[in-house]
Amino acid sequence: MAKIAIIGGGAAGLTASINAAKNNQVTIFERNSICGKKITITGNGKCNYWNENQDISNYHSDDPEQLNNFFDDRIFQETKAFFKKIGLIPFIKDGYYYPYSKQAISVRNALERTALKCGVEIKKDFLVTDIIKKEDSFFINPQNENLKFDKVIITSGSKCAPKTGSDGLGYQLAASFSHKIIKPRPALVQLVSDANFLKRWAKIRCEALVKLYDENKELTKDRGEIQLTDYGVSGICVFNISYLVPKLLEKKQNIFLHINFLPFLSQKTFEEIFTFFNDRSQEFSRNTLDEMLEELIPYQLVDVLLKEAKIKKELTWQKLNYNDQKRLILTLTDFSLKIVDTLTFNEAQCASGGVSLKEIDMKTMESKKVKNLYFAGEILDVNGNCGGYNLGFAFMSGIKAGKSC
Ligand SMILES: Cc1cc2nc3c(=O)[nH]c(=O)nc-3n(C[C@H](O)[C@H](O)[C@H](O)COP(=O)(O)OP(=O)(O)OC[C@H]3O[C@@H](n4cnc5c(N)ncnc54)[C@H](O)[C@@H]3O)c2cc1C
Repeated sequence: MAKIAIIGGGAAGLTASINAAKNNQVTIFERNSICGKKITITGNGKCNYWNENQDISNYHSDDPEQLNNFFDDRIFQETKAFFKKIGLIPFIKDGYYYPYSKQAISVRNALERTALKCGVEIKKDFLVTDIIKKEDSFFINPQNENLKFDKVIITSGSKCAPKTGSDGLGYQLAASFSHKIIKPRPALVQLVSDANFLKRWAKIRCEALVKLYDENKELTKDRGEIQLTDYGVSGICVFNISYLVPKLLEKKQNIFLHINFLPFLSQKTFEEIFTFFNDRSQEFSRNTLDEMLEELIPYQLVDVLLKEAKIKKELTWQKLNYNDQKRLILTLTDFSLKIVDTLTFNEAQCASGGVSLKEIDMKTMESKKVKNLYFAGEILDVNGNCGGYNLGFAFMSGIKAGKSC
């Protein structure tokens, strides 16, 4: 029986503890007075903890090859079996898993309850500031305490949502064992623009196809509901492409978000879209432009977009010359918004970067540098899309680390 210390009682730490507890004496060190504080705010309080569609394209890392080594069907099956073991009953919508209670606290409670029933000791209000290894043993906060362990799993999260306890201290613990830290940056985060009309489109929500551009090069895209705000743009589809932005802006790249406010026409050529408007204007020949567009997008947005296109809303489609018609179509389907920043770790839902995967055995989550040292969860250089992928990674890596111990 080995003595195992787990640093951080979030999703990854609690999961690792349950999976390590069978043959070992396990202690979780959690700085907060409760475990899993972050879990309780996930998914707008409902906790989208897993996604049936486990495709590697939903995960990102500086080291895609190592990330690829992580995934196999076995870990997906083990994770679903783990959810059963801790008593979660899923409510599944379009492949997205939520607890049947639709309350995130159920997930937190199920994890902590199972950990305690497995004999895990949880030391709360305990901040780990230092770990050293002497010969074959690890010592936690060696200056003040006499806490000696055979193995350590670091699951202290990223820098994201620091009010929940993950303020980046874990990176220092990893770095003290000479682990390389890929610079953490906000991911799943709102994008900030300096355009002068933002106050006018604030609070509008609509369907859109968003494409991220570095100058003229399309980098990635996603589709869904977009939220227009007085600082820029938000929404799940924006979050999913946001992880690339901070790094590009640091390199002084010119970043633009191209927004198609008519995503149902995204497969059509320019000529086909042109015909669509021509046909509609013939059918409703007396409708002014704002009346015609109100059928397609929120009326507040019609106003903003017509002003940006410098076209009078009282006109009809037939009254526009070809260049105006073309400009209007481009404004509606390829609206270019300059992106100058993102919101911060306080607002982001996860961080990119973290402990480099190069130095981790992705089958066991053990450090390749330090024997009996393991990592799991968001402290690692893995960030997922919205849809249960970040908690999914915390659970999967927690299972691997716990079982390997
Ligand atoms: C608002 C919001 C909504 C989200 N919604 C979803 C969602 O619906 N679905 C999804 O998949 N993901 C979601 N996420 C992301 C997901 O919550 C995280 O990726 C996941 O919780 C990470 O788990 P973790 O255990 O690695 O880290 P954390 O949950 O951050 O846990 C780390 C723990 O370690 C403790 N700790 C840190 N340092 C120390 C130390 N030095 N000593 C002792 N304890 C320490 C912290 O207090 C914390 O309890 C959301 C995130 C946010 C912020």
